[in-house]
Amino acid sequence: MMNMMKGLFLDCLFDSIKYYLATTFFICFQSKMPNIQNFFAKYLQMRIICINFVAMKTVEDIIRDAGLRVTPQRRLVYGVMQELRHATLDEIAERVAAQDSMVNLSTVYRILDSFVESRLLSVIYHPDTGKSYYDITVGEHHHMFDGQSIVDFKDSGLTKVIRQYLVSHNFKDSEIEEIQVQITVNHKLTSKNS
Ligand SMILES: [Zn+2]
Repeated sequence: MMNMMKGLFLDCLFDSIKYYLATTFFICFQSKMPNIQNFFAKYLQMRIICINFVAMKTVEDIIRDAGLRVTPQRRLVYGVMQELRHATLDEIAERVAAQDSMVNLSTVYRILDSFVESRLLSVIYHPDTGKSYYDITVGEHHHMFDGQSIVDFKDSGLTKVIRQYLVSHNFKDSEIEEIQVQITVNHKLTSKNS
């Protein structure tokens, strides 16, 4: 199982590296073939600048862009979520209290609620524990539940197959807001094999 998760992580990493190398190579190559590829190279340069710009967004920018007022407590809670990625209310409150003991549980809850309403966070349910987890990733993605750990699992191919299946079974595409697959690791099987 760990190997599978490592594989997924490496796939994502290699995709990013491949994209970066391909665009960099293309831009370098463009200087020798200025006519046809000029426009595309400029477009790719723009994309890299945009990607860097998004990556450089500060916590303040993220909160403000979501239409919320920036407060020290909101900055703190969002910063904690950037570290934890998926976490329960108690886990977040504990981490926040370690950094600022004046921020109590109900304040953390209210802030998290405002983040969910503003689509800064999403909420998922753990199928084993039944607990709710706040999730820093809001785009359509799947989850792998391995004991207490939750791993993001992005696979646009899987999402597409399910969407097509549903559409062929009388769902309208516009009726499907989001597809989330929950994969629960079978510990009986993994402990037998190991
Ligand atoms: Zn997630």
